[in-house]
Amino acid sequence: MKKILVVEDESSIRSFVVINMKRAGYDVIEAESGEEALELLSKSPDVKLALLDVMLPGIDGFELCRQIRAQSPAMGIIMLTARTQEVDKVTGLMTGADDYVTKPFSPTELIARVDALFRRLGGEGPADVTDIISGPFALNTRNRTLTKDGRQIRLTQVEYTIMRLFMENIGKALSREDILTGVWGRDYYGELKIVDVNIRRLRIKIEDDATNPAYISTVWGFGYKWGT
Ligand code: CA
Repeated sequence: MKKILVVEDESSIRSFVVINMKRAGYDVIEAESGEEALELLSKSPDVKLALLDVMLPGIDGFELCRQIRAQSPAMGIIMLTARTQEVDKVTGLMTGADDYVTKPFSPTELIARVDALFRRLGGEGPADVTDIISGPFALNTRNRTLTKDGRQIRLTQVEYTIMRLFMENIGKALSREDILTGVWGRDYYGELKIVDVNIRRLRIKIEDDATNPAYISTVWGFGYKWGT
């Protein structure tokens, strides 16, 4: 069963989301605060994806995202942000969210985002080769983990998918559109900026010096390239 958690303090929006996700075939549990969400998650280890409102009483959506991410690196997380809070998108992604949806959103848009993230969480089936090696990095495509010099680097699902795209295209310049399509899918409604934000976050995790990247280089006016 595809189980998701919806965290939103405004009951009308929460019901709207819950009803639509149930209609789309998901098993849904809901919470009206971050504290309640964490308690529910501790009792429901089968939750695969969480929809988190940013503005919550008590601990806010960003802090909730951080805490969930620390406990469940593989959880899919989508932030629900307000249109006026442009900065939310970047902050949300920097705290470990996989995606964001801007309010007000249509049921169609929300379901498309959740379905897309679920497809990425689902893995890509049996692979003949499980390790892709590049320089000090080894990407295990079976358990979706990355190591650098044998030490594991904790990645979100989006970061993992970007790394896989890079490591399958060593030395090839990938446009930001290539990355957006390769990672988020063709039906994605978002902006190219999400690519840059994720690359920035990935560099912090994998580079020796994120301000002087040695592995993910910028191809000015085009995109990014992987090289070791
Ligand atoms: Ca709220």
